[in-house]
Amino acid sequence: MSSYGIFHRIALQLFNFFSSRKDQCLCTVCGAQGKFLKRSSNLRESMICPHCQCISRGRHVAKLILDTFSPDKTSLNDARNELSKLRIYELSCNGSIHEALKALPLYHCSEYFDDVPPGTITPEGIRCEDIRRLSFQDGYFDLIISEDVLEHVDDYEKAFSEIYRALKPGGHHIFTIPLYGDRKTRKKALVKNGEIVHLLPPEYHGDPVRGKILVFNEFGTDLSDILAMLGFQCEFVVAGKMDEKKFGIFSSIVLRTWKPI
Ligand SMILES: [Zn+2]
Repeated sequence: MSSYGIFHRIALQLFNFFSSRKDQCLCTVCGAQGKFLKRSSNLRESMICPHCQCISRGRHVAKLILDTFSPDKTSLNDARNELSKLRIYELSCNGSIHEALKALPLYHCSEYFDDVPPGTITPEGIRCEDIRRLSFQDGYFDLIISEDVLEHVDDYEKAFSEIYRALKPGGHHIFTIPLYGDRKTRKKALVKNGEIVHLLPPEYHGDPVRGKILVFNEFGTDLSDILAMLGFQCEFVVAGKMDEKKFGIFSSIVLRTWKPI
């Protein structure tokens, strides 16, 4: 091979090496390193970890959990020892964060079913809770996690109040919701005399339990004021510099709120 050919081959190998390293991302949920898979143009709901199947949103939430409770660890799996000491409640019994945390001794999770009383366990072993009237005692949890849940609750003030009540002083609610930077919070629908009343054209999101679920609320620029009125300290965090560029500022925000000590 000529010296030019060798040079060309080395240059190509170096290019491939650095290109592949650029694509190697660390999953903050499972700790695996790999290339995340883009399955849709909505990158917040895509960029799937090939190992644990989590999407960007879940990794952002996991990053905030780590920053808050175990800053020297890089994934929920790595932080199991620290997280096992926390009373954790996740408002879902599905998803990659649930899979990463479900074996922890003080972990709780629930789903909402219209016709099952709060605190009841279904025959399949799933706890039912209504976020507007949780069956947990006051000041119980160190950490409550929710991903895109609160926009689907007709009385979101009651839901946030219940989260506040169930948190220990110093406890955190780390969560995502669709957040709009160009408007104030508004209700798109409400429940009156047991019937849903649409104030704006109905919008539905996909849901692993029901197939689809109605959006009751759009949260906007006044959300921190609303949370402060309920007693929370509040921080809006953009999870990751690379993600900020890739995913746009509003779709990358995770909210970290906590009950003051
Ligand atoms: Zn993963």
